[in-house]
Parts: sequence; structure tokens; C-alpha cells
Amino acid sequence: MKKSFFIPFSVFLCAACLFLAGMAARLKTPVYVRVLIHKDIASFTMSSESPLTMENERGVKIGGADAREKIKVRFPNRNITVNGRLYKGKTLYFVSDGKINLNGVRLKGKIKVEKFPGGDGSGIYIVNILEIEDYLKGVLPNEVFPYWDEEALKAQAVASRSYALYHVINNKGAPYDLTGFSSQLYGGAETEDKRTSRAVDLTRGQVITYKNRVLCAYFATVCGGYTEAPQNVWINFKDDFPKAVRCGYCEKAPHYSWNYSISSDKLRDKFAEKNINLGEVIRIYPSRKSRYGSRVTEVGILHTGGETKLRIVGFRDVLGAENVKSGLFKVTRKGDRFYFSGRGHGHGVGLCQYGARELAARKWDYKSILSYYYPGAGIKKVY
Ligand SMILES: [Zn+2]
Repeated sequence: MKKSFFIPFSVFLCAACLFLAGMAARLKTPVYVRVLIHKDIASFTMSSESPLTMENERGVKIGGADAREKIKVRFPNRNITVNGRLYKGKTLYFVSDGKINLNGVRLKGKIKVEKFPGGDGSGIYIVNILEIEDYLKGVLPNEVFPYWDEEALKAQAVASRSYALYHVINNKGAPYDLTGFSSQLYGGAETEDKRTSRAVDLTRGQVITYKNRVLCAYFATVCGGYTEAPQNVWINFKDDFPKAVRCGYCEKAPHYSWNYSISSDKLRDKFAEKNINLGEVIRIYPSRKSRYGSRVTEVGILHTGGETKLRIVGFRDVLGAENVKSGLFKVTRKGDRFYFSGRGHGHGVGLCQYGARELAARKWDYKSILSYYYPGAGIKKVY
């Protein structure tokens, strides 16, 4: 919801869910999350408040640093060097009893540097591995405001835990489970707040289940009046997901209504930047709408070179997701400008964060809030 210090790497789409019933018995605890912090950067600097140990992929100590001593890791020609010395292995761990400071951001857990071979995923990954409960404490204050009512914070904690655990279960072969900036923002130990941490503790181990699987519990800042089905947002989404609901509780949110305008020349420039060439733009219109609250799911652009259609995610990506804040909009043309007027902020799938805030203020508990936005789902304590 708020700005993250991490660079966006990719937007996660949920792969087919492999989770089976009876997970509680098989779930190894504590559960660790691998969070991508950087990929393919030139270098980073690290230190810790306690001594820092460097380990190879077999867990053998191969070096270290004293408390507060800085280590510089560089990646010349896709190699790994530590304080100027070449490291020949593929994976390197930095472990400390204290928090690790990576490029000025304090993180709990350990850091993994990994040269990942093969296909689209090849590259050097810098990943923070930490307990899921600690991860959530670094997520919540970036997703909701710590001064919100406790039940709204608890609803967010359970949704965020479910979203994270879903990715832990489904991304085993990948170099990481989650990005620092995907659907939920991770700010490390830096951003922890005692009210949001308490909401994480009070709901420890609780996740949302749907049809006997951990739910990839999407959430969005402001739904704008009606939530959305994930299949309408992400074309590859194949999982079962609770049906969309009328909200009506987020009207007081900052971006409940929004406006944006752009000249036709500027619009063409923005598309050209993404290698989509348009002729003179004649009309922009919703080429597909969802049946839930008339949200635009595909945008058509009629131009002198023909007709171009984009899924809403792609369209918002081209014009800027902070400009076209949601798919719930109307667009009109006056002269050479296009005027968008819309409602809501985000993709609208799952929990409406500002709706949850309002329901908590009306004394709903977190379980009622979650079952409202994820109808038919249950809550299960898995550890
Ligand atoms: Zn809402």
C-alpha cells in the first residue's frame, strides 16, 4: 500500500495450487520464507550488530566479520567477490545472531546470495530467509496503518500469512518464495511497529483455507464498492477463489474516487516506451467488463493504425498504476485529452483493506471480516 524501498522485480501470479488437505501434520516449523531483496545488482554492503558468519552451500564456515564491520559484496562479470576476494561457489550465506544491515536496511534472519542458472530465471539473487512470523512483522506496517483498529490489523495479518504460506508451498523449485515488492510490501525489521507485531502474534499460525487448501489470499487497498474475481485480473489464474462481494465500506478511503487525464500524444509516447505503437488515438473504451461492479477487465484503443486491446493489468502498467488507480473507471475524450474518472485503488481482488478498517471500526472481529471478503473460506491454525 505504501511505498517500499525495494525495486519492483515482478508481479506474482499464483501457480496452480498444489496444497493438499492435512498440511498441519506435514508442515515443518518454524516456517521460513525466502524473500527476494535484489536481483542482478552491481554490489551491496552488509554489516551486523553481532559477528557475521559467512557459510558456503554446505553450511561450512568460510569467513566472517566482527560486529559492525562492513563487508562489500560485488558481482563483476557474474562472479561473486567478498571484500575483493573471488568466491567460486554458487551459493553463499551470511548468518548472524543479530539483525543484518543490508544497504542500510535492517533485516532479521539470514542472507543468501545465489547464482541461479537456467532460462528466464537466471541471475544473481539476494534473498532474505527468515521465519514467516518475523517476515509478517516487516510486512504489516507497510500494508496497513498501525493505528487502525486491532481487528483490522489481525485480518490483514491472517491474509498476509496465507498469501505468504501459499507461495512457500508452491515455489519450492524457485530461487525465492516472494519478492520484497509484489502484492505485499516488506520493509524488514526497520518498519516494525508494536501494534502490528501484536496483531501478528495474536493470530500466530492462522491461515485462510478454501476447499482444503491454503488460500492465495489476495487483498487490495480500496475495492471501490465491489471486489473482483482474480480470473478477471490475471489471465493465468486457475485456482479456486471465493466469489467477489459487494463492499460498500470503503467510501471514506483516500482514493475511493480518482481522476486522471492525459493528452493523446503523451498517451502514444507512453505506449511507445513499452514498444506498443499506436496511430492517432481515436477512442479508448472498455472492450471487456466483469460482471462484478462493471470493472474494466480489458481496454480497447481504436487508433488510425487499427485496434489494440490490453488486459487491465497491462493497461495500468503502461499509463502508471498510480495514475489509473483501478479498473473501475469511465473514460471520455474532450479535444485531444482523455479523461479517466474512477473508483478504488488496486486490483480489487479479495480483502478490501479500507473496507476491513471500516468494519473493524464498527466492531466486527477479524474472523467475521475475513469471512465477509472471502466467502466460504475458513480459518485454520496450522502451527
Ligand atoms: Zn471496499
